[in-house]
Amino acid sequence: MSNEHSSIEPFPTSLELTGNDTILKIDWDDGYQSRHRLDALRAACACAVCKGHHPSQSLNLRSEQFTDIRITDLAPVGRYAYHIVWSDGHDTGIYTLKMLRELENSA
Ligand SMILES: [Zn+2]
Repeated sequence: MSNEHSSIEPFPTSLELTGNDTILKIDWDDGYQSRHRLDALRAACACAVCKGHHPSQSLNLRSEQFTDIRITDLAPVGRYAYHIVWSDGHDTGIYTLKMLRELENSA
């Protein structure tokens, strides 16, 4: 038995861009597969710039605003999240594993 993966939370085994780089596909170690359209994922960004520190500050982003969005860079943050840099220059988005897992499949 290894203690390396002591959490019971599901963990991604692979992340892949598919659908002509418009869909982020995530395979999880419990067999579940997430499929997120990049426009929906960009609109769901929960960072302070997009959501503000109070609901009144939210930019209320909609996926329709990001029809040609692409991922420029994606890097793990520890074992709890991914930092995604977007082709529109937005680079403060941290997508936690919990959020990626719970976000409704959009593709
Ligand atoms: Zn953001």
